[in-house]
Amino acid sequence: MRRLLILGGTGEATKLAIETQKVTNLRTIYSLAGRTNAPNIPLCEFRTGGFGGINGLIRYLQDAKIDFVIDATHPFADQMASNVAKACTSTGIPRIKFCRPAWEPNHMPWISVPTYSEAANQISLMGQRVFLSIGINKLNAFSFLSQKWFLIRAIEIPIRKIPLANHDIILGRGPFTAIHEQNLFTKFGIEVLVSKNSGGVLASKLKVAERLQIPTIMIEQPLPPKGRILHSIEETLDWLRDQP
Ligand code: NAP
Repeated sequence: MRRLLILGGTGEATKLAIETQKVTNLRTIYSLAGRTNAPNIPLCEFRTGGFGGINGLIRYLQDAKIDFVIDATHPFADQMASNVAKACTSTGIPRIKFCRPAWEPNHMPWISVPTYSEAANQISLMGQRVFLSIGINKLNAFSFLSQKWFLIRAIEIPIRKIPLANHDIILGRGPFTAIHEQNLFTKFGIEVLVSKNSGGVLASKLKVAERLQIPTIMIEQPLPPKGRILHSIEETLDWLRDQP
């Protein structure tokens, strides 16, 4: 039996893990960073928690006798992506990056920026009430904007203090409907949206921002490590079946 490690943490990764179990002579192990208390876990072998950097990952790949790796982490999980690319190169284990295609700006106008700090610089010239829809890990870049008010959305109550002078926090796990998002924009009087270009199905918040003519700042995806990138579950299953 060949052994596949999937690095997960997204809805697509869960779907992929379920589908890979239909490939004959293959056992799937699904890995999560362990950031949330009630994650979506596919019905397969499962592990959680960091590996301990590149060396820890190399040890894990060897001890667990992994034959193939699919990096299906979120496109913004660039540390894990880089570690797994290096660990697989060093061990000679075949790896692909599985990720949904980025959103294209032709769907709607937005201000494209390469980094969180560039997004913060853009906001300084814009409206006062900002839906900072980027999770909770990169908020430090916005902390100098003490005159602005921010709406933050998290899956669980954050353990660490939010480093923003004026903010409200709401809890929720996507995907969200357009009605839900429109109510949110209206209730909180949102004037600016900041989003990461997570890709896949166009998020409702973007459709609503367009409908309400709310300016949107889009933080574009970091460059993935060198190597093959596949965008659909079907082509990823084909890649697995083609492995010698
Ligand atoms: P990151 O910065 O690239 O990773 C930081 C560290 O977390 C990694 O070096 C690794 O620790 C550990 N890690 C990350 N993903 C892991 C996995 N699937 N299995 C085991 N360990 C993992 O990642 P992040 O941005 O913190 O994201 C963490 C997880 O949340 C990812 O699995 C990602 O798919 C998911 N997620 C991220 C975002 C986002 O916007 N970044 C959005 C939605 C979901 P060690 O070095 O100790 O191995």
